[in-house]
Amino acid sequence: MTKTVRVRFAPSPTGPLHIGGVRTALFNYLFAKKHGGTFVLRIEDTDQNRFVKGAENYIIESLNWCHIPFDEGPGKNERFGPYRQSERKALYKQYADVLIASGHAYYAFDTAEILDFHRKDHEAKGKTFVYNWHNRLKLTNSLSLSAKETQAKIHAGEPYVIRFKSPQGQTLHLKDLIRGDIKVDSNTLDDKILFKSDGMPTYHLANIIDDHLMQISHVIRGEEWLPSLALHYLLYKAFGWDIPQFAHLPLILKPTGKGKLSKRDGDKLGFPVFPLEWEDPKTHEISRGYKEEGYFPQAVVNFLAFLGWNPGTEQELFSLEALITNFDIARVHKGGARFDADKIKWFNHQYMQLQDNVSLAEAFKSEHNALEDIDVNYIALVIGLIKERATFISDFWDLSFYFFKAPKQYDNKDLNKAIKEDTPELMAELATLVSTMDAFSSKNLQITIKSWIASKNVGFGKVMMPLRLALVGALQGPDVFDIMYMIGKTETVSRIKTLMRHLP
Ligand code: GLU
Repeated sequence: MTKTVRVRFAPSPTGPLHIGGVRTALFNYLFAKKHGGTFVLRIEDTDQNRFVKGAENYIIESLNWCHIPFDEGPGKNERFGPYRQSERKALYKQYADVLIASGHAYYAFDTAEILDFHRKDHEAKGKTFVYNWHNRLKLTNSLSLSAKETQAKIHAGEPYVIRFKSPQGQTLHLKDLIRGDIKVDSNTLDDKILFKSDGMPTYHLANIIDDHLMQISHVIRGEEWLPSLALHYLLYKAFGWDIPQFAHLPLILKPTGKGKLSKRDGDKLGFPVFPLEWEDPKTHEISRGYKEEGYFPQAVVNFLAFLGWNPGTEQELFSLEALITNFDIARVHKGGARFDADKIKWFNHQYMQLQDNVSLAEAFKSEHNALEDIDVNYIALVIGLIKERATFISDFWDLSFYFFKAPKQYDNKDLNKAIKEDTPELMAELATLVSTMDAFSSKNLQITIKSWIASKNVGFGKVMMPLRLALVGALQGPDVFDIMYMIGKTETVSRIKTLMRHLP
């Protein structure tokens, strides 16, 4: 029988959630939903020094904005709760003790000064200090001391940490769903601290215990955790627990393709690296967010899905439902995924086209006082005409203001291009023609005006260019007959006359 799929997203609340973290959450979500499984949110806040107020809330709001909410987590279906590691603190020590008792871990009393001395001493010799099998008996720990000495130190209240005793001379065979089989020489591993002198577990210990207790079947996380995989395997073995399956997602690279995209890159490179805007609680510095910049969550999600995964076809637009159906962890690649800020704009433009015009109109209306008294259905029709040129709702006004009020000025370059000697005469005749028309539809306008132009024997542009200039203020915008129809007869005639007054 296959195990039920339970995956977890396990961020540390040390600041706003980086867009790469959202990608990790998304891949976990897609995997869970694809396999009818459960998506768990666990807050890994054992490092109280790095705790940032508001970060947990930010993480939850970001997942909600992306429509990838967790099934289990803080305050929701707390079947395996609590889901904040700080609230599970009392649980971890007993597990560290189990490892001590079975000989897989040991107490270490080396002070920070001594370790620092060794580190610097090694550095000076061009080496790296590693605490493991080759030197552990020369350091101060329960392996080098007698049982009595160790007990005496503990009773005397000497601070200690608990370290994992990495095995010597073994070849470890690890498996990763994306990277395949990985071999690691256990001699290269250091004896990682599992339990700190402040009474808190380290990430490694807490993470393994919680994944076990929360019955996590698959661990899907960023590539930066790959070096920890060997230790995690060894910990599972030491406890005698089933090992979950692992998948390490590729790094997200800077737009240049060189180096990892960092939290600092965004504002430096001119695009957000956070899903939502974030105000640093201490410095009050603001970091931009995709939401506030006008991105649709569907566009962000679709874009992120392609950072490391592809469906193997030409199709690029995938709704969340389609992503769930098509997502396959075996199709996630190993190589770093380049963050292309133009591509996310492209996705936004595409999703703009798919949005319902009335909802877009409501959003547009709420951002512009000038639209206060205008019927939302009229605004929706305008949006239908201009949205193929828009990427953001904030582009709408510049693309469409002339549907709501007459242009205040004319583009100089376009004036020179559009206005010829016979323009005043042609415009006067056109104004009369338009004002006498009964059926004022786009189609009818087109037929009537085109046949009038033909009868005058003048070039099409001689009429159409000044007409467009009169309506829009520049030689741009959608179909002229659509614009005339939308603003109506009286307004059309009035704009033609305004242009005429402007002519020499
Ligand atoms: N707390 C770790 C992080 O912040 C979780 C790593 C993992 O998923 O195992 O990324």
